[in-house]
Formats: sequence, structure tokens, C-alpha cells
Amino acid sequence: MGRPRGFVEIQRVTAGKLPVTERLRDAREFELPMADAPLREQAARCMDCGIPFCHQGCPLGNLIPEWNDLVLAGRWDDAAASLHATNNFPEITGRVCPAPCEGSCVLDLAVVPGDEGARTSPGAVTIKQIERQIADRALDTGHVVPRRAPVRSGRRAAVVGSGPAGLAAAQELARAGHDVTVFERDDRIGGLLRYGIPDFKLEKAIVDRRVAQLRDEGVQFRTGVEVGRDVSVESLRSAYGAVVLAGGAGVARDLVVEGRDLAGVHLAMALLAQHNRRVAGDVIAAEEEITAAGKHVVVLGGGDTGSDCVGTALRLGAASVTSLELLPRPPDARASTNPWPAWPVVFRTSSSHEEGGTREFGVMTRSVVGEGGRVRGLEVVRCDLRDGVFHPVLGSERELPCDLLLLAMGFTGPRRTGLLDALGVALDARGNVAVDRDGATSVPGVFAAGDMARGASLVVWAIAEGRRAARAAAAWLERPER
Ligand SMILES: Cc1cc2nc3c(=O)[nH]c(=O)nc-3n(C[C@H](O)[C@H](O)[C@H](O)COP(=O)(O)OP(=O)(O)OC[C@H]3O[C@@H](n4cnc5c(N)ncnc54)[C@H](O)[C@@H]3O)c2cc1C
Ligand code: SF4
Repeated sequence: MGRPRGFVEIQRVTAGKLPVTERLRDAREFELPMADAPLREQAARCMDCGIPFCHQGCPLGNLIPEWNDLVLAGRWDDAAASLHATNNFPEITGRVCPAPCEGSCVLDLAVVPGDEGARTSPGAVTIKQIERQIADRALDTGHVVPRRAPVRSGRRAAVVGSGPAGLAAAQELARAGHDVTVFERDDRIGGLLRYGIPDFKLEKAIVDRRVAQLRDEGVQFRTGVEVGRDVSVESLRSAYGAVVLAGGAGVARDLVVEGRDLAGVHLAMALLAQHNRRVAGDVIAAEEEITAAGKHVVVLGGGDTGSDCVGTALRLGAASVTSLELLPRPPDARASTNPWPAWPVVFRTSSSHEEGGTREFGVMTRSVVGEGGRVRGLEVVRCDLRDGVFHPVLGSERELPCDLLLLAMGFTGPRRTGLLDALGVALDARGNVAVDRDGATSVPGVFAAGDMARGASLVVWAIAEGRRAARAAAAWLERPER
């Protein structure tokens, strides 16, 4: 612990951002790095707790107090080594992770409002910002180099899907000396890092840089190949000793109301993937183009995907953007049923929400209203959530103008036909691939990681589970009888 009273004397500060008018002009990232001195001050707030709850909060078990202390000491290379010991892509989590570690940092411990002796928390250590800057600095100064395995095993592993789970699994397996091929249905590598998360949160050059590192470490990539369609499951199993399934949970929850089929109603991913392609320089065919310019855009769903639609629609020049969420507005502070160190379920304002648009909670969509085959509005009603049931509030029905409706209501899991059917892996009650605590599926030699096994979740979980599946797959390949 470098500064015993650091957490008392130094206030929590987070990074600055470009002004909204400036960031809406393009698709670039807009968070500004902190200068070294103030960042080291922030690291000095870490108490190096006897029981560092931040470790528990982080699915990767990042060694947070260790690298906080190294940053305070100005030992950036050692901090980068410590960070990379548990996380393959810290520059990515440092940008997009909601930072459950900060929610469980001891400095975020606040007595529940209403309790005797209530006090406010001094605010978590700015762990995410510190992580990002350690990682960026290591990459920019050439301290992240390919780590090729000194000895090759001659054994082969296939990874299906190139999102964060597949990339982490591939890197770990290659570093263990195995020959790894990643199969990706899309034309580019990255999964939702590439075609889900917008560039303003994660510029794609960052993903490219890691893909290049994986190639240098010996990982082979085959894009435009869907396993189960272009490559049969039988040929995959006979050519590769172990298979890691990391195909994500791409089946979107749809809206089942009258008018869903009108022109101008799209799944959120259609807009987000298309816009990321446009930013990457692809030409979008006119008949496929989804435009938001000058339109009244309504986004159904208030999660990450919905928020990314808001930021994207604003950048595309929407006349107005309204976010509707079925659930009630979360409280401003933790409820008594949501104590520290659990993830705080509180009202949050994402960077996209800061940029514009309006948000409404407790609103149910009754139908989509059209004119000449195109969406013209939404019939909505306010609703109360009581005993787990949404009750419409009588008399609150109204029509909301809408020229572009984006459905961002979450995902129901992986596609069960094709790959999963052919492999015959068991599914869990929610329809995700069932795995044991090591990531092994019901089929020997087949492992699963990330959203495909967990259901739609977070990048940090995908990396953690990719690493776990790689450990199990490596142990499988290395059995003496193989
Ligand atoms: C719009 C959006 C924004 C998000 N923002 C955040 C955020 O800010 N922070 C955060 O932590 N998380 C965020 N998430 C969630 C996060 O992106 C996912 O949890 C994470 O990407 C899951 O990683 P994965 O590797 O399991 O799957 P994916 O990233 O979904 O990758 C799966 C890949 O497998 C490929 N594939 C599937 N089947 C096959 C097959 N049969 N053959 C070959 N390839 C196949 C797919 O084409 C895809 O490329 C967001 C999600 C969305 C949709
Ligand atoms: S819980 Fe917070 S203060 Fe304690 S070691 Fe972790 S980051 Fe530092």
C-alpha cells in the first residue's frame, strides 16, 4: 500500500470526454486519457485490502491491488505484466467493461440509505481507467509482443467463433503449444467486438492489433466459414483433437405485436452491424441501408444494445431518439435487497444517453402503427410491475411518432440448429450449451465458453470462460493416451 491515507485525502476522479457536439461528428472514441500524475494519484487511493473484494467482483480475478501499487510506483511494465497474467485483452475490457470490480471495491461500500449511521462511500478506485491506461501504454510502447510457445505439441484444436471467448481460448491454446484454427462465420474476426459494439466505444484497430498478435503466435483464422454448414461437424472432429465452442448467443428476442413486419422495424443488430461495416469502409447496398437521418427513432430496450443504438442513431443524424424500457426506472442508490459487494442495480447514464434522446421506463408497446406499409408510430401504454406481472395503467395509452423502430430487447441464446444439433451437445434449461465447472460439454473433447454457454453477458465473462475452456481443452489434448 503506497499511500496509507490516499483514499481519505484523494477524491475519486474519472477520465474526461470530448464535448458531445464534437463526439457526435464521427464514430471515433471520445474518452480522454488521464495524465500520468493524476492517474497515479488515483492508484494511490487503493487500500491494498486484506480481502480485496475487487478480485471477487472481477470474473478474471485481475490482480487489482498489485497493479494499482505498481502504477503508483511508476513501474508500468511490471503493471502490464501483472495485468496480462489474468487478462488477454485488457485494453478492450478497459474500454467496454461495466467494471463489476468497481462495484465490489471496498471503497464503494456504503451503508444502505435508511440504516442507522448511514454514510456515503468515498467512491471506488478508478480501476477501469487504470487498467485501460496500463494496457494502452504497454501496447503503444511495444511491450506487448507475440509470445510463441517454445515447444509445439503437434496436437490440433478448433475454436468455433472469434468473439472475445474464442480469441482468448485460441491465444491460450496456442501459447500452450497447440495448433489452433479459429473458424468464423463472418467476414472479419472479432464477433460482437467487431459487429456489435460501436467504434465510439471500441475502435476496431484495437481488435486488429490483437488479431495480429494471435496470428504471430501461430493461430490460423478461417473467416466466412460456418461450422455445421460449410465445414461438417464430422470433419471438424476427425481433424481436431479438441473443439471449443464460442459461437455467442446471437438469437435476438423479437417483438410479437401487430405491425412488427412493417418497413422501418429492425432488430438492433441490423443497424449496429451495418454501421460498423460502414465505418470500416464497406459499401452498403442502397436497398439494405438503414437510415436514421431526420427520423424519429424509437429504441425498445434500455440495456447496452439499446444504448448503443441511441449513440449510433444520434451520429446518423436522427431528428429524435426515444428509448423505451418495460422495466421500472432503477433506484438512484442501492436498494436494501442489493447490498455491497453485489453488482449495484442502480440508474445509470451511459455516454450515449449523455449525448441526447429521451428515456422512458415502465412503458409497454401494444402495437406498431403503419401507413403505406411503413412504420408511422407506436401504440404504447404505461405499466406497473407488481408481483412479477406488468399491469397496464388505464388511460395512459398514447401513440408515439416513430419512423424507425429498433428492437434491442436482449437475446434468447445460441442458434440451436446446425452446429449444436449436429454435435449433439446437451443444452441447459435456458437453451445455452450446458458445461461443467471446467467448461466441458456433454460431448467428450468439446468445450464451450462465453455467451454460447452463459447466455448473453459481458466481454469480461467471455474472456474468463475462454481461458477456462482453453485450460480444459489443453488438458484433454495433453492426456498421455492421445
Ligand atoms: C450491441 C452490443 C453491445 C455490447 N456492449 C458491451 C459492452 O459495452 N461491454 C461488455 O462487456 N459487453 C457488451 N456486450 C456483450 C458482449 O459483446 C458479449 O458478451 C461478448 O461479445 C460475447 O463474446 P463471445 O465470444 O461469447 O461471442 P460473440 O462476440 O457473439 O462471438 C461469437 C462469434 O461466433 C461466430 N459463430 C457463431 N456460430 C458459428 C459457427 N457455427 N461457425 C463459425 N462461426 C460462428 C459468430 O459469427 C460470432 O462472430 C454487447 C453486446 C451487444 C450485442
Ligand atoms: S477493493 Fe478497492 S481499495 Fe481494496 S484492494 Fe481492491 S481496488 Fe484497492
